[in-house]
Amino acid sequence: MSQWLEMDKPQEECGVFAIHLNEPADIAALCHLGLFALQHRGQESCGICVSNGRDIVIEKDMGLVSEVFSETRLDKLHLTNARTGIGHTRYSTTGSSLRFNAQPLTVRSNKGLLALAHNGNFTNAKHIRNQMLNEGAVFQTTNDSEVMINLVARYSHLSLIDATARVMAELEGGFAVVMMDKNKIIGLRDAHGVRPLVIGEMPAEQGGGFVFASEPSALHVIGARFLRDVRPGELVTADEQGLHSRQVLTATPSPCAFEWIYFARGDGALDGADVHVSRIRMGEVLAQEAPVDADVVVGVPDSGLPAAIGYARASGILYDMGLYKSPYAGRTFINPNQRLRELKVRLKLAPTASVKGKRVILVDDSIVRGTTSGRIVQLLRNAGATEVHFRVSSPPIKYPCYYGIDTAARKELAAATMTVTEIQQKIGADSLAYISEVGVARAIGLANTCLACFNGAYPAGHPGEEAEKDGIEMPLFDSVIS
Ligand code: AMP
Ligand code: SF4
Repeated sequence: MSQWLEMDKPQEECGVFAIHLNEPADIAALCHLGLFALQHRGQESCGICVSNGRDIVIEKDMGLVSEVFSETRLDKLHLTNARTGIGHTRYSTTGSSLRFNAQPLTVRSNKGLLALAHNGNFTNAKHIRNQMLNEGAVFQTTNDSEVMINLVARYSHLSLIDATARVMAELEGGFAVVMMDKNKIIGLRDAHGVRPLVIGEMPAEQGGGFVFASEPSALHVIGARFLRDVRPGELVTADEQGLHSRQVLTATPSPCAFEWIYFARGDGALDGADVHVSRIRMGEVLAQEAPVDADVVVGVPDSGLPAAIGYARASGILYDMGLYKSPYAGRTFINPNQRLRELKVRLKLAPTASVKGKRVILVDDSIVRGTTSGRIVQLLRNAGATEVHFRVSSPPIKYPCYYGIDTAARKELAAATMTVTEIQQKIGADSLAYISEVGVARAIGLANTCLACFNGAYPAGHPGEEAEKDGIEMPLFDSVIS
């Protein structure tokens, strides 16, 4: 069967990175380090693109950063006098984990050689792509980046920056994009700032210059200083003359709450709100909203740990490490039959003696399908826990995400089809409670955040609305193209 049968699903969980230095440097090595620090944002494929002002080289493939970038492969990216580069780590659901979708995407255009990498989704991309296909355009990938780069190229009479600014106004959805030509990097966020993007400055002794990245973790690792977040609707450029900013769209901030709940790394702040501190607060709020008498608070490693610490602090109940996580089980390919899938959680997590004979409060950041959560509850019971009270530091996930986080299709979401009591029975817990929407917003501390996967209020629209409006057919590749 042709790979083209596979329609790209809307989820694009990704990490993006861009660097432009004033002095030549080992740009490939710096992008490599930056991607390591963004690995948690995408594990399916990665890529790096480097320029020295004359040539552009690119290496990308399926796999983790450590798997794709061997010494030989990094050597291929080594250009004398290189000062500019971008990088990308991508996670996408199985159907679209195809090599040709790996980013950055590179093209020759009327604006010269361009490379682009994005995080998130353009919710009207399919509509635009259909229009372009009808007009005779051809596409080599099934991802949204190609739609954007084609749109930019259509404004042949405009400079790259002016064309990109125009395109920002045409694209809908939640996204952060980095682009480069031979001499500069560009970074932008959608008008709602759904997906994060930060700016860092390289110290003068390391050549000076600027870095754009999905998270501060990628700045820290290369010794860059956090400068500020890219503003919602802002387009920033770093080139020979320094950093430039253009507020292209009116900012109506609504950053993704899930970044603070689960997705972002805990060692930084996004839009002024510290990720780790927010997670601790979510646990504290949860303890106030859903108290229960127990002997020990246990977090599900890794993402449930800060909220468990917060819950323990606020409740005064002992915090302990009740689950040990194997550091080596990250990517294990297991034959997908039911029995082995059940064993997979055992490969990752094992209960410690701390839960034996104890009434346990088990804290995790989210329940998506409820499958893993049920297996963890069972692990604790098998290890002698007398009660397991499940507490979740996100509200029930009832709606899919159209802006880049893989929270599963609606019918697969436990909270979309079951009541809290039914989910509690499914996962086999003695009690189950979620943080409230107000509680999670209070813990993050920002005036507005996207909470659409909890309440269905999509700040930047969703493709269903587009499809209804335009009567377009979905999915796009619904027939065999081989
Ligand atoms: P389940 O019980 O099967 O719904 O799995 C819940 C677990 O999935 C929690 O530990 C979450 O941390 C984790 N999780 C939540 N969102 C995602 C995501 N987008 N990708 C991978 N894991 C996730
Ligand atoms: Fe984040 Fe949920 Fe909004 Fe998606 S729908 S951007 S996961 S808050």
